[in-house]
Amino acid sequence: MSRPSSLRSEPAGPTVAPLTQYVLKLVSRCDLACDHCYVYEHPDQSWRRQPRVMDPATVQAVAERIAEHAAAHRLDVVRVVLHGGEPLLAGAARLGATAASLRSVIGPVARLDLRMQSNGVLLTPATCDVLVAHDVKVGISLDGDRAANDRHRRHANGSSSHHQVLRALSLLRSPAYRASYAGILCTVDLANDPIRVYEALLAEEPPHIDFLLPHANWDNPPARPDGLATPYADWLLAVHRRWLADGRPVPIRLLESLLSTASGHGSHSEAVGLGPADLVVVETDGTFEQVDSLKSAFDGAAATGLDVFRHRVDDAAAHPAIAVRQTGLAGLCATCRACPVVGHCGGGLYAHRYRAGNGFDNPSVYCPDLLRLVRVVTAAPVADEPTRPTDSLSPRVLDDLASGPGTAGSAEQLAAVHLALVRALLVALSERAAGDPVAADGWRLLVQLDDAHPDAVRAVLAHPFVRRWARRCRDGAAELSHLACVAAAAAVRARVRADLPVPVRDGLVSLPTLGALAVGVERGVVRLVTDDGDVRLAGRRVTPDAGRAGDPAREDGPDGWLPVRSVGLDGGRLLLEDTDPHRDCYDLPVQPRLSGAAALRWTRQLERAVRRIDAEATGYAAGVRTLLRAVVPLGAEPTGRFRSAAAGTAFGAVAVTPVSDDAALAVLLVHEVQHLKLGGVLDVCDLFDRADSRTLRVPWRDDPRPVEGVLHGVYAHLAVADVWRRRPGPAAEGHFRRYRAWTDGALDALLDLGALTPAGERFVRGMRATVDGWP
Ligand code: SF4
Ligand code: SF4
Repeated sequence: MSRPSSLRSEPAGPTVAPLTQYVLKLVSRCDLACDHCYVYEHPDQSWRRQPRVMDPATVQAVAERIAEHAAAHRLDVVRVVLHGGEPLLAGAARLGATAASLRSVIGPVARLDLRMQSNGVLLTPATCDVLVAHDVKVGISLDGDRAANDRHRRHANGSSSHHQVLRALSLLRSPAYRASYAGILCTVDLANDPIRVYEALLAEEPPHIDFLLPHANWDNPPARPDGLATPYADWLLAVHRRWLADGRPVPIRLLESLLSTASGHGSHSEAVGLGPADLVVVETDGTFEQVDSLKSAFDGAAATGLDVFRHRVDDAAAHPAIAVRQTGLAGLCATCRACPVVGHCGGGLYAHRYRAGNGFDNPSVYCPDLLRLVRVVTAAPVADEPTRPTDSLSPRVLDDLASGPGTAGSAEQLAAVHLALVRALLVALSERAAGDPVAADGWRLLVQLDDAHPDAVRAVLAHPFVRRWARRCRDGAAELSHLACVAAAAAVRARVRADLPVPVRDGLVSLPTLGALAVGVERGVVRLVTDDGDVRLAGRRVTPDAGRAGDPAREDGPDGWLPVRSVGLDGGRLLLEDTDPHRDCYDLPVQPRLSGAAALRWTRQLERAVRRIDAEATGYAAGVRTLLRAVVPLGAEPTGRFRSAAAGTAFGAVAVTPVSDDAALAVLLVHEVQHLKLGGVLDVCDLFDRADSRTLRVPWRDDPRPVEGVLHGVYAHLAVADVWRRRPGPAAEGHFRRYRAWTDGALDALLDLGALTPAGERFVRGMRATVDGWP
């Protein structure tokens, strides 16, 4: 790259969040050959294209860019870390010149916190003199005692570097150089004993210790020996226990950061917390890169295409991949956003979230470890409601849904949020699963399947009654062992072989989305094998495949298999749910298992009702087809009245009593899907002040209703009015007028009450606009 004669001097853009930390790759080569190194031993090999050492002109250009940025953003302090490869390979003189150059340019604008991260091998008294003279603080990498350090941190010829690192540390401990001793960075290896590692590090009297999880991602997951669910958390927690027992003799950055988040403050580590990642890397050739731990993801993962000669730091800060990391919660995947510990964990280190296909839009590959670590270190409550990520529905989606029908895209967004909440609940339950052998086996299988067969897992987790079970389980009202049934159902869908214990309840093994298997004992645990889509249990083999499960009239056979019957919809199936043990969440009793003939009647009528919605309530068809996954048959009302219901805990399911009339069933489905949609919105967005207990009188009920009830009623009645509005005839017109009047009055009452949040007011005004737009 050629360097232009002067740096571009346009005024700094006012909108980017400033970057305060700079990693300068002073040298792009290393004198060690650590096999866990993300620079040399991972997919990104861009170091081969870099000059060996950053030349003085580039250092000057970097310094000017940083000073320009600090001045534009009025930064009090900036941190620059001299890094590599191994920065000591630059030699003491180049090191001194670099520090001097940075201080002379940046110093007049902002305080410069100048640091260096080194393997220590080449540290000498002469170098230390330079470091002290220029006030450079040095962090040294050490993985523990000699055995631990030799496991990875060796020279290219295989020889140990341990004695050289200890010599460097003893220099830094000496009174003359102690001021330049920043601390020790240690990469966790499960093969090393955590207490021996901790003691070895402590013996070096470091001002700070930092532990780093080995670089891994969903494509290259970390080793989990013996199938342990949270071995990295266990390792770090062993250190944590000892550290507490010792009276916290040295700050351990990862643990201190979690404690800081627990007391409402920010994290000091990019590995945890929701603080913005205000850091950029400058390579030896002057190119800006993202954090270099991304090199563990794929070749070119850290590249930005920007450099210090042609671009300002503002340009780098505005780069989408850097900017997104400054957005805190909003920049995380849906699962993390909904996670109960996201405020502490923050989704973990960015590089650990990578998966080919969807990039960094994932939780950390260390998610179970992070959850456990956070919970123990911060003593966060285990049964928390997942965090309500109130910013996860954009105003555009909110407006779209407020219009009444809403588009398929908005419905898909609600479905995605639902899935994220289920995942978050399961992550929260996984910690308890460790204490239940059946659930623990299920959790392990589910984690494996999620990696190899994510579609199969998604299909099961999206089932309405998986969420209900998870919620009840969290509240201690359901058995954790059902997790094994969830995993087994996913294994059947993935057509993989799995052999696991599953619980029996009321004589049935329930496989969500597939059906249930009668086993001849009322309760207990049985061993179930899944293989190529079949299920084997006690010498029996059944095939719960989609084709047979889809036969709407299939009677229960002598093999004991009770398939879920279903209706085929474009691109999906609507299940007639009469086997799931967690479907009893309505205020009317659910029907027991239907006969083949009864199931046929139900499924045929559901088909006709959905076709009717397609034909006469087109706008609402998208929501019905996208969100409605299961219909639960209810027992008939003694009065003969048609009844229907939706439950907030069973997103995607609607329950209905037998209905003789297809048109009435179509209206009931539209009505209940509105409740599902609003429930989905309320899952992630506060529309009203939950502390406000005032009630309103509404025309459709005798009893006064809380704000949430009024919102639900008005949103459902708006849709019902809309359906009747499109039907011909005086009777339809009468129904339309009645529902419209109900909606009108309730909208006004809601707006007058003053209990809505700004988002709620926007939502209600959106409904108002729809109603006002009707002729
Ligand atoms: S010392 Fe650091 S840069 Fe060098 S090989 Fe080891 S981990 Fe990589
Ligand atoms: S889901 Fe996992 S990675 Fe994401 S914030 Fe929660 S614990 Fe961290």
